[in-house]
Amino acid sequence: MPQDSDFSQTVKVNLFELTNEELHHRLLNRAADERRLTHQILQLIAEVDQRKLYLPMAQASLFDYLVTLIGYTPASAQRRIDAARMMQQVPEVGSKIENGSLKLSQVSQVQKVLRLVRKTDNLQLLPDEKKDLLAKLENKTGAESELILAQEFKLPPQTQFRQKIQQDESVRIELTLSKEQIEIVERAKALLSHALPGATLAEVIVSLAERYVRTRVGAKSKSKGQTETKMKTEMKTETETNAEAWTKSSIDQGSTSAPEGTERQRRGVSKQAIPAAIKKNVLSRNQGCEFRDAKTGRVCGSKMFLEVDHVQPRFAGGGNEPFNLRPMCSSHNKFRYTAGC
Ligand SMILES: [Zn+2]
Repeated sequence: MPQDSDFSQTVKVNLFELTNEELHHRLLNRAADERRLTHQILQLIAEVDQRKLYLPMAQASLFDYLVTLIGYTPASAQRRIDAARMMQQVPEVGSKIENGSLKLSQVSQVQKVLRLVRKTDNLQLLPDEKKDLLAKLENKTGAESELILAQEFKLPPQTQFRQKIQQDESVRIELTLSKEQIEIVERAKALLSHALPGATLAEVIVSLAERYVRTRVGAKSKSKGQTETKMKTEMKTETETNAEAWTKSSIDQGSTSAPEGTERQRRGVSKQAIPAAIKKNVLSRNQGCEFRDAKTGRVCGSKMFLEVDHVQPRFAGGGNEPFNLRPMCSSHNKFRYTAGC
């Protein structure tokens, strides 16, 4: 009588009995099933995206939702998001992924390039132009697609950046610097040589980052050791990013919860600014977004694009006292306001 654990063994035996042709066709069929399933998954992801279903579930973005609650790796999640969003503009993409003439990774390559040219050349393709571009990539390999895209958009040579978290939580970074860029880094290294004799490039970069952070958020936590330096640099950089994101979205609106800006003005509520020290203190807690899913108790925790949220909204009489303020990511700050929760 075979045990449960013998199942895989049984499958192995059965597979072993297949002829080469049977094995190949079985794999072909299963791969077709997989692509059909992928198409269905993309449709579901597109619908989740439309509904912003991830927000009430305490996820700051579709990406976070797919990684945290669905279980995709970051790269898999990004590929599916890219394809699902492309499918919303070019519906044929779904059937092409299903029949195998386009791969998820190719659609993702296209989206990546489109993001790049939108940023660098302010170039935005119409849905029909995207459709034509994708047609050129059908049945091409990843490398062929890369070349077609590079030529199509006259992209400069790739300077790929790689980052890998290692066993001891250190991060291995591989990056390309141009001749001019390495010269300026070397110059900084030379200028720092009195303070940091014999420093490695990594130590120079961290030291420069620390100096910059100190000029922006103060010197309250001076580094004591390398690990601590690394942690604090990350922490402070995050605070800085948050502060910058916050400033960008909020400062012109009277420094309170960003989405409330126009509404507040409409309602004629006072625009009294949150004192800078209190604001900095709220954003420096380093706990991330405090939005909580009322059903599961799950807290968002995102540290990106943090804003200061009023627990008791200002239009409902809430003030700028520290106990009435909390960090909240801009997605949840907007969501909370629009959903009235
Ligand atoms: Zn959030």
